Amino acid sequence: MSLKIGILPGDDIGLEVVPECIKVMKIAAARERLEIDWRLLPIGKKGHEEHGHTLPAVTEQNLRELDGWVMGPIGHAAYPRGDATWVMPPVRKKFDLFAAVRPALSHAAIASIHKNVDIVFLRELTEGMLYSETVVAGLPEFRPNDDITVAMRVITRKGSSRVAREAFEIARTRARKRVTAAHKEPVYRLACGMFAEECRKVARDYPDVTFEEMMIDSIAMKLVTAPQQFDVVVTTNQFGDILTDIGAGLVGGLGLAPGLCVGEDQAMAQATHGSAPDIAGRNIANPYAMIMSGQMLLAWLGRKRKEPKAIAAAGRIQAGVNQVIATRRHLTRDLGGKASTSEMGDAIAAAVQG
Ligand code: ATP
Repeated sequence: MSLKIGILPGDDIGLEVVPECIKVMKIAAARERLEIDWRLLPIGKKGHEEHGHTLPAVTEQNLRELDGWVMGPIGHAAYPRGDATWVMPPVRKKFDLFAAVRPALSHAAIASIHKNVDIVFLRELTEGMLYSETVVAGLPEFRPNDDITVAMRVITRKGSSRVAREAFEIARTRARKRVTAAHKEPVYRLACGMFAEECRKVARDYPDVTFEEMMIDSIAMKLVTAPQQFDVVVTTNQFGDILTDIGAGLVGGLGLAPGLCVGEDQAMAQATHGSAPDIAGRNIANPYAMIMSGQMLLAWLGRKRKEPKAIAAAGRIQAGVNQVIATRRHLTRDLGGKASTSEMGDAIAAAVQG
């Protein structure tokens, strides 16, 4: 079996960290004899230069045929405003990528607020209060007069159920096998209530996974005081937006925050950080988050497609990254080292090669 994986370099530091990620994924795949059919596709500024749009039709068409793809950060903050061809490429929406999977993993060799943190957050991505994603016309917020603004929050059974199922599937692959659903049902009885009900229903299908519920304010505090107690945390869109940043802060910041956006059948590796124009073009960005996002893509595809070679390749990348971090010789500046982006990528590639 061979996997079809797209490469979308993105903008700014994406052009530096995505190649490191692909280099490492290629070596891990070769070591496991996993065949990957790679497709380089334009997106962002390059997409606009070549095809007049930040999400060119040719890219969109190709993505439909792929198992998954690696997408670098997009430099949307610098895009001209009011021009429909210069937009943040609506990839998540077009491909119905409904959950963001964001691990917060501490490393003994890297300074962090807490040690022994190993949490995977699942954030619902298609509903909630983000207006661009909850309506096809109009906005779910409006201002009837100058002193009042009304905003709506959309929660559906389907959206809640599928993100919960993904959380339980991930929990099953982990040692502690524990899912915490974060919400505030006693206050948001219908909205959080529906999310909680769906989580409880899904939990019944996973008797091997421990399920608990926690109020969003309570978990916010416990994540700061005792994050070691959490394994997999699932929550709705806006709560997840905040909790995942707490997670990144707990373990050392944005350079260490990988991510995977998952749909029913496809997934996209995308680091949590933005395109960081302030450090772009200098070969100093930390490639960890992008490389580990690629690692997550292989692990997810391995599970979904029942391809043990992809799972083994992901395991190799995790081990290689752990090794490079533990020895501390090839770390980028944000981690207190002196290595360039490509030196850290090369060191990880060498560790994965073994
Ligand atoms: P966006 O709005 O595009 O998501 P952001 O506001 O989250 O972007 P980033 O582009 O992620 O901002 O950058 C925030 C800060 O973190 C910047 O100072 C940037 O240099 C730093 N940063 C982001 N990613 C990395 C990385 N991979 N390595 C080192 N520093 C990074």
